Amino acid sequence: MKDTSCRKCGEQLYVYKKCKVCMKPNQFTCGKVGHTTDEEIHIQCIPMHMDDAILSN
Ligand SMILES: [Zn+2]
Ligand SMILES: [Zn+2]
Repeated sequence: MKDTSCRKCGEQLYVYKKCKVCMKPNQFTCGKVGHTTDEEIHIQCIPMHMDDAILSN
């Protein structure tokens, strides 16, 4: 389970954001440079996210 390293500089990644729906980490930040990875979109979670957006408005 060592795929949590930055693709650009190989540094350890830290959890930046978790999916609100399934609570799995879906975006990481690199400890060294401080850049963030692209946010992963979970296909199965998109409908739930949209429900959430509608409710919060
Ligand atoms: Zn990096
Ligand atoms: Zn998700």
